[in-house]
Amino acid sequence: MSDTPNQISGDFPKALRDEFAPDFSTRAPDDLETYGRDWTRVYPAQPSLIAFPRTTDEVARLLRLCSKHSVAVVPSGGRTGLAGGAVASNGEVVISLDRMNRMGPVDTLAQTVRVQAGAITEAVHRHCETSGLTWPVDFASKGSSQVGGNIATNAGGVKVIKYGSTRQWVLGLEVVTMDGTILELNGALEKNNTGADLKQLFIGSEGTLGVITEATLKLTRVPGDLDVFFFALSDMGAVLRLFLEARRAPFTLMAFETMSANCLEQSARHFGLKKPLETDAQAYVLMEVERPVSSNAGELLEQWLTDLFEKELVLDGTKAQSPREARELWMLREGVAEALYQKAFLHKNDIAVPVSELEPFVREMDALFRERHSDFEVAVWGHIGDGNLHINTLKPDAVSKVEFMKRCHEADQALFEIVRSHHGSVSAEHGIGLLKKDALHFTRTADELRYLRLLKSAFDPKGLLNPGKIFD
Ligand SMILES: Cc1cc2nc3c(=O)[nH]c(=O)nc-3n(C[C@H](O)[C@H](O)[C@H](O)COP(=O)(O)OP(=O)(O)OC[C@H]3O[C@@H](n4cnc5c(N)ncnc54)[C@H](O)[C@@H]3O)c2cc1C
Repeated sequence: MSDTPNQISGDFPKALRDEFAPDFSTRAPDDLETYGRDWTRVYPAQPSLIAFPRTTDEVARLLRLCSKHSVAVVPSGGRTGLAGGAVASNGEVVISLDRMNRMGPVDTLAQTVRVQAGAITEAVHRHCETSGLTWPVDFASKGSSQVGGNIATNAGGVKVIKYGSTRQWVLGLEVVTMDGTILELNGALEKNNTGADLKQLFIGSEGTLGVITEATLKLTRVPGDLDVFFFALSDMGAVLRLFLEARRAPFTLMAFETMSANCLEQSARHFGLKKPLETDAQAYVLMEVERPVSSNAGELLEQWLTDLFEKELVLDGTKAQSPREARELWMLREGVAEALYQKAFLHKNDIAVPVSELEPFVREMDALFRERHSDFEVAVWGHIGDGNLHINTLKPDAVSKVEFMKRCHEADQALFEIVRSHHGSVSAEHGIGLLKKDALHFTRTADELRYLRLLKSAFDPKGLLNPGKIFD
């Protein structure tokens, strides 16, 4: 047995060669660099080896071998994670699900599909679309993220307001635990009241309890005609009043996204798009609705819009007149994350509070930055219906990176106190990974953490699976 659990040494390399074909794994420097990091881009990539299993059996055999030789393993999906969950910085073996991307036939009666965990999110959408169905897990990184990663992070996204998060759209899981046990959890059952639902433990556990190898996904019908609106509003209070009005409206709300003026400015500049509204405002909202199926749907929508202006709920607004305009509006919103990266070095937060707490939360957050960090530019966007805000702090040119990170850490402590006082979460959808470990106690009590640790040691007593993620 190796003395250094995070390094491959001793008999392990030979055992791996004996067990698997030569193309099963790679130690090529480019691959180590690529597969050792995720989108957070702040941690060094230092894995020892990248393995590419094709089947669940290969995953089980690999984990059994790693367990026997005390080698740490990092499960890796599309590496679009924003919390460092898939990062391998300590000589771990990365287990990439890239080759496990097969998708079974769509069951149109049950509205389900069984896929391997490495299937790309958008490929699943396309696969199901031909049957008039979709897996409604949707966000900007869907072209690279994988089903296994989505499930391991219980991903949110732009349609949570309508569909809920990933957890709601998983019927069954096949999972391999660190000792090589293959668990088949819940199959394709809609109903199964036979005790605790083990599958739920793996959803959102960020690869710390087991490797997800297959999933039975629950599907829903592809939505009908969609309309996309863009509004300018005076402040967060106005955004929430519009949200209330939209919830009462005669249509189905599919998305209700907000962004601050500097997010819109930067996104428009980055993608070379015209700003959709001339009116200067503090906040903007992108709203997508599914048109009601009725002969007077258009009139109902027009009337609703007229009322908004009469009640002075919005400063300005527009509706996409073509699919292209709708796509551009979405690009302005979904491109914010990428566009901000081009503007400055960023510090990111992804918090949630109950929707009814958003207005006071934003007031207190604004005061914090105004009073203590007035030289920081803060860019905020988020998913209002979920009480989820992405708070980005941009490094001023005059401040060094080291000084900036030190001050961001101070600001975070104050920010997370505000989050806690509003009964919120320090990570709404990106997870904890490496990035938010120090902040976990703002949201989880000591008792909760004690049970989470017990759970971890039940599934992974040697602490070899994604070590150091969520907690040490
Ligand atoms: C531009 C952009 C926009 C984004 N927008 C959103 C958004 O709106 N909402 C949102 O929730 N997220 C968003 N994200 C974050 C990210 O895309 C999601 O967290 C996504 O679900 C991660 O999937 P992945 O396959 O890339 O996982 P990875 O980054 O590869 O891994 C994420 C975590 O899951 C674990 N993991 C991966 N695969 C498995 C597996 N098969 N079994 C067990 N554990 C596994 C990893 O170890 C890691 O802890 C965004 C990211 C980017 C870059």
